[in-house]
Amino acid sequence: MEIIETVAGMRKRASGLKREGKTIGFVPTMGYLHAGHTSLMRVAREKADILAVSIFVNPTQFGPDEDLEDYPRDFKRDEEICDNENVDIIFYPKTEELYPPDYSVYADEKDLSQGLCGRSRPTHFRGVCTVVAKLFNIVQPDIAVFGRKDYQQWRVLERMARDLNFPVKILSAPIVREADGLAVSSRNQYLNPKERSQALCLRKALDLAEHLYAQGETSPENIESALRDEISQNNLATIDYIEIVDAKTLERVEKINRASLVALAVFIGQTRLIDNTVIAEEQRHPNYS
Ligand code: AMP
Repeated sequence: MEIIETVAGMRKRASGLKREGKTIGFVPTMGYLHAGHTSLMRVAREKADILAVSIFVNPTQFGPDEDLEDYPRDFKRDEEICDNENVDIIFYPKTEELYPPDYSVYADEKDLSQGLCGRSRPTHFRGVCTVVAKLFNIVQPDIAVFGRKDYQQWRVLERMARDLNFPVKILSAPIVREADGLAVSSRNQYLNPKERSQALCLRKALDLAEHLYAQGETSPENIESALRDEISQNNLATIDYIEIVDAKTLERVEKINRASLVALAVFIGQTRLIDNTVIAEEQRHPNYS
């Protein structure tokens, strides 16, 4: 396994691999790796000759009052996890190189990024698109894999790759959960034991949405309001949003008659957690074949 820390080094390596006719599968991460990340690595490993993982806590996707400084980091541990997953290359760039002091160019997606997390984190997706665009230019992947845990992020990046003509195929992988249903996340380690048990309300709410839909409920308002009641029972939980949107356009649906994303963001104490599920996947979309 190689660890490459400079843009020039990574570019040179990627170009060499291309010349040899090798395909590159890429998993961008912010490190503090867990089972969610390794599941993406396994997908990329299967689809490409070379597996490259980036580890970079990207400052531009954090808002001014968010947890950039506190975000967990442990490169040695990450290195071991990558080694066990047969990662070929870890790209571990420095903030000063990716963002020089006079840095001034951003990639800004203007449609899919506006609602859901984009509403409460207005500069978040601009930061995500910017860093992923930069990483694509440096690592030159043939495929890149993102988790549906960050469903909106996957859709936004899929759009960015299409609209900016990146020669990369964007794949997504399912949400990896703990045994009790909590979606695995680097931020779960902020939770104290009491918060950890209340955090289960996210998965419970999504189960309820699936159950209500299976019982024949097709009104997004009714489902959202039932979920609101479910989560409000937890005294450490504060709802950021609960929304049901079209699974492709991320626009609000009037009636659940097509694949729809049930997305939620909830603060458990100070920690903001997100989770989602897709319902009505079996329905034919009225606007797509
Ligand atoms: P992060 O390091 O949190 O920026 O995440 C890097 C990638 O891992 C993103 O594509 C995430 O969607 C994905 N990811 C994080 N947690 C999970 C999870 N529990 N299941 C699947 N993918 C995940």
